[in-house]
Amino acid sequence: MNSTVVTFPEGQVTGRSQIVEAVPAGARHGLVTTETPFHPLDHTWPDQPADRGTIGGLPVVDCVTAAESDAGLFMGDDIPVRRGADGWRWLVVHVVDSPLPVGEEVDLVVDADYRAALSAGHTACHLAALALNAVLAPRWRKETATDALGNPDFDQTAITSSRITEYGSVDVYRLGKSLRKKGFSAEDLDLAQVAGAVNERLKHWVAADAPVWVDVPDPTLTARRTWHCALPEGEAHIPCGGTHVTRTCQLGTVTVSLELEDAALAMHTRVL
Ligand SMILES: [Zn+2]
Repeated sequence: MNSTVVTFPEGQVTGRSQIVEAVPAGARHGLVTTETPFHPLDHTWPDQPADRGTIGGLPVVDCVTAAESDAGLFMGDDIPVRRGADGWRWLVVHVVDSPLPVGEEVDLVVDADYRAALSAGHTACHLAALALNAVLAPRWRKETATDALGNPDFDQTAITSSRITEYGSVDVYRLGKSLRKKGFSAEDLDLAQVAGAVNERLKHWVAADAPVWVDVPDPTLTARRTWHCALPEGEAHIPCGGTHVTRTCQLGTVTVSLELEDAALAMHTRVL
């Protein structure tokens, strides 16, 4: 087995599988199964938090990515290579307080309400990024990489961190010298005007009830999955390891607010 088989990209929240490995996780116990519906925190781009729930009836207190090779097994921040590096086995580790025996078949149950809140936050995060790209497009004075809708990709060019929360997200963008050199002008940025224009676009996209799906090339943890949304302007897609709603209308109302601090722009996205 080179990877835990994962079913969260299709939206699964339950499963049954065999415990194939038990590893120490500090003073706790890490359990690896053949297959899991649990979404672990990604060590390379930790945007969506780990799922909550139970394994074999025990509360899963944390769920992390692990990489194993001849050099040993490393978890989370201790992983010395990037996500999906060759020569490593990529595993989902369910962290629990008491051990369960290797070989046992167990039920895996994800907290569906918490997952739904994160999925809504994650879809809203991607839509807000695309809307921000569109609104900021006139500020680019040089050719730059574009997003799937054809707008200069401010999001991918300037982002430094993205955190998905329950029914929301916080994305931070660096507006420093390197972005200016790439041709982006942040001069006289009217944050209220930009947020208003982003919110108009989001309202339109939610009302369009656009289908959302994740393209899954293979069921391994580190497969290169892609988020898709068939918006009125065209089919948007963004590389993504997380979970999502299945239609934009499920989001209700999505709004953003923007804050500027030093040379960083923070976008707070909320699903109401
Ligand atoms: Zn994503």
